[in-house]
Amino acid sequence: RTVLETIELTKRYHRPALFGKGAETVAADAVSFTLKRGRTLGIVGESGSGKSTVARCVMRLVDPSSGAIRVRGEDISDLGRAALRPHRRHIQMVFQDPNRSLNPRIPIGESIIEGPVNYGTPRAEALKRARELLDLVGLPPDAVTRHPHEFSGGQRQRIAIARALAMEPEIIVADEAVSALDVSVQAQVLDLLADIQERLGVAILFITHDLRVAAQICDDIIVMQKGRIVEQGEAARVLTAP
Ligand code: ADP
Ligand code: ADP
Repeated sequence: RTVLETIELTKRYHRPALFGKGAETVAADAVSFTLKRGRTLGIVGESGSGKSTVARCVMRLVDPSSGAIRVRGEDISDLGRAALRPHRRHIQMVFQDPNRSLNPRIPIGESIIEGPVNYGTPRAEALKRARELLDLVGLPPDAVTRHPHEFSGGQRQRIAIARALAMEPEIIVADEAVSALDVSVQAQVLDLLADIQERLGVAILFITHDLRVAAQICDDIIVMQKGRIVEQGEAARVLTAP
């Protein structure tokens, strides 16, 4: 079952000109892909190739210029804030920097339950679930009362993953989610993501500039260059191609 699909997704950035005519960057140019339940689709490419732009469009953090974005079959590309809300919970993002998901001043349990509580889950129930999620990502359940600075980078990324999972998403968009971690810690977090995908059937859109990392976790791969898809297919084939 397809949980996420883009059709000719295009994003242009207009840059105000200092001198003469303003330049235009086509950051994503007619990008089409499908992501199925329980699969990991990698988007790889050099810096500036448009990977993050695709992620930001899919999350509707920026507005696409044209094309469709179907989340669980529904096109969300044109929806306004209020109409987006019911769709948003199905798709959660994990950033390179876990501090983007975790408020340093509040206990991690509060960060984990924030989304579910906003969507109407009773506090006590959400906290119970937060403890279970911490256990799932390999941290002690009683860590709910501790603050982000008490954890290592890898642990913080696990907590950010727990926060994403608290919304019971069908899709996780991981944007360079292990890129800032040491290689040994990277492998552990990748194992965790693979485990989550298997146990919960979550689909992962995995954005990385690192082919070695992509090879470790992706089923399928899209290669981007200057905003365009230049190659796509099964990871084993794409990554071994000359
Ligand atoms: P990647 O994630 O592969 O590094 P990006 O999606 O961040 O690539 O960037 C793709 C292109 O779009 C680059 O040329 C980048 O400079 C440009 N770009 C990204 N965000 C903006 C923005 N907010 N305004 C103008 N140009 C942007
Ligand atoms: P991330 O590390 O999350 O991918 P980036 O470092 O690519 O973020 O970009 C940070 C912010 O700067 C984003 O909001 C992006 O849209 C913006 N940005 C990236 N490239 C450009 C650009 N060439 N011109 C203007 N804004 C840009």
